[in-house]
Amino acid sequence: MYDAVIVGAGHNGLTVGAYLARAGKSILVLEAKPHIGGASVTEEFSPGFRASTYSFIMGHLHPKVIEDLELRKHGLENILVPNVFNPTDDGDGIVFSKDPEVTQRQIARFSQKDAEAYPKFFAQMQATVRMLRDLQLETPVNPFDKSPRGLWRSGRLAWKLRNHEKEVYALLQVLSLSAHDYVDRWFETDIVKAKFMFWATIGGNVGPYSPGTAFYLVAHLIGQTGMSFAKGGMGAIATAIAKSGEAHGMEIRCDAGVDEILVEGGRTTGVRLKSGEEIKARRVISNANAKVTFGGMVRRDHLPEEFMDWIDGYRVRGKSFKLLCAIDKLPKYKGFDPEKAGTEYPAYSHICPTPEFLERAYDEAKYGWYSSEPFLSPIVPTYYDDTLAPEGKHVITFQGGVTPYELKNGTWDQEKPKLYKNIVAVMDRFAPGFSESVIDYKLLCPKDIEDDINMPGGNTQHGELTLDQLFFMRPVPGYADYRSPVKGLYQCGASTHPGGAVSAVPGHNAAREILGDMRWGRG
Ligand SMILES: Cc1cc2nc3c(=O)[nH]c(=O)nc-3n(C[C@H](O)[C@H](O)[C@H](O)COP(=O)(O)OP(=O)(O)OC[C@H]3O[C@@H](n4cnc5c(N)ncnc54)[C@H](O)[C@@H]3O)c2cc1C
Repeated sequence: MYDAVIVGAGHNGLTVGAYLARAGKSILVLEAKPHIGGASVTEEFSPGFRASTYSFIMGHLHPKVIEDLELRKHGLENILVPNVFNPTDDGDGIVFSKDPEVTQRQIARFSQKDAEAYPKFFAQMQATVRMLRDLQLETPVNPFDKSPRGLWRSGRLAWKLRNHEKEVYALLQVLSLSAHDYVDRWFETDIVKAKFMFWATIGGNVGPYSPGTAFYLVAHLIGQTGMSFAKGGMGAIATAIAKSGEAHGMEIRCDAGVDEILVEGGRTTGVRLKSGEEIKARRVISNANAKVTFGGMVRRDHLPEEFMDWIDGYRVRGKSFKLLCAIDKLPKYKGFDPEKAGTEYPAYSHICPTPEFLERAYDEAKYGWYSSEPFLSPIVPTYYDDTLAPEGKHVITFQGGVTPYELKNGTWDQEKPKLYKNIVAVMDRFAPGFSESVIDYKLLCPKDIEDDINMPGGNTQHGELTLDQLFFMRPVPGYADYRSPVKGLYQCGASTHPGGAVSAVPGHNAAREILGDMRWGRG
């Protein structure tokens, strides 16, 4: 009998386990795959070449978790990426730095007016970023919870926000505006607008001209660890969290897929594995997507109908692909000049020369097809990290879009080679000769992501980040506090507040709620 069994060894499942183990609880983590990490993983995709198969940038990992779980001591290293390079169509390029003054000087090369607008735009974004950072570690308050505890929590939040008028207005703006309208007001130059709008496309399901996409833009900038590569790839994050938990007695079993979360009289009693083995636990914590947990592992007849209506309506379709390439030389962007850029090599780039380029990439996907000219975010981790490829060779990975989950008149098996051609054609346009440097590749579309790590729809965020699926609505109104309608059953994955990213925040927050319930004999 464990104090808690955790279903899934994604980084959030490991995080909740590590916190509980540190608090002296007996913890078992069960993972369906042969290895830990979920979407935070490093794998060999071609002999001698390893890459972060899914997530690739580490900036979101919360500094509090790094410190609490002593992840540095357990081997975590990050390599700061100083800037992001965007090539233009006419053979130039612009570098965006985390230093706003450097960025402003870069913008001034294209437009003095845009450079002057940048500090105001930056201040507007920062107001929202501050608000989101503040709310990240808060368990969402249910404004309709009339219990004394609920009323106390609502009051506490209102008190906390009393001096944050500007930030609240800024948040409401990004939740409703399109990324295009959010950016267009400030700038006149296409490359500057496209640069910011690109952030809105990462993990999103609609183009940056659609309402609500400004939220994606800002949500990608809330990380506090600095835009970086994890040394050894994103799997190093999961490994460090696992080691931290194991140092306090947490057990992990891989190749141990859970078939059913057992429920008796409205309370969970443990899990049954796919092998038929039953494991008893006082509490079960699911790191799997909400759609996998409820109505999947927990039978529908154990759950209220209204709850299941929300789960059925929870939107998880993803539209991003991931391409991993083994290459024999670094790509050479024709628009990159180290002197103008003030940096020696663009290890992280965004390829989207104009706002229209981004939006058009969505047009074909709207009608069931993939982009003929995809936007791309190439990264070359091996420029800084020699642990991933043989000497003299490199790995480049691309996240980009747009690829619908299903094709209207075709199959992905037939179409994938053509999608690959579209991707490398865009790369060749900006970095001539790139396609000839590719030794081997692996291309993953949303359905592949779903099949590999049980991430429904292949949605990178475990569910869209839209107003109806955020804060006290995520994943279901009334159950955004990491609990569920089944007593003793909790949620800790990216389907919960604040959503996707390798932040470890859902795991951190869930651990706090669970430890509170354990302490007070609740749940
Ligand atoms: C292509 C892609 C690119 C991304 N890029 C970035 C990025 O650069 N930076 C960033 O911060 N974030 C990025 N993300 C988002 C981020 O990776 C995810 O939001 C985050 O990793 C989710 O973590 P999690 O622990 O909540 O869930 P997951 O990582 O999905 O882990 C869930 C785990 O549960 C396991 N599981 C499921 N069902 C069962 C079962 N029945 N029994 C046992 N185990 C089960 C799965 O195998 C998996 O290991 C990206 C995601 C994708 C897919």
